[in-house]
Amino acid sequence: MSRLLLILVLIILAALIYRRILQYKKQTTTSSKRIVAKNMVRCNYCGVHVPEDEVINDNNHNYSSEEHKQLEQNKQ
Ligand SMILES: [Zn+2]
Repeated sequence: MSRLLLILVLIILAALIYRRILQYKKQTTTSSKRIVAKNMVRCNYCGVHVPEDEVINDNNHNYSSEEHKQLEQNKQ
């Protein structure tokens, strides 16, 4: 009988830990989304919005990648 009780307690504990992990994951994903939505800059070549810290800046023009910077310069 005591074995059954022990198993039951273990199942309840596992369920509680699992719920904690799910809550933690939810919190981290919502907070990271908030950071991404903070400062977005438009690429001068393709028009895609890129996070400010990932953007490539050249003479006050913003580009989503080194490739787009070069393509825009080749156009001129
Ligand atoms: Zn681009």
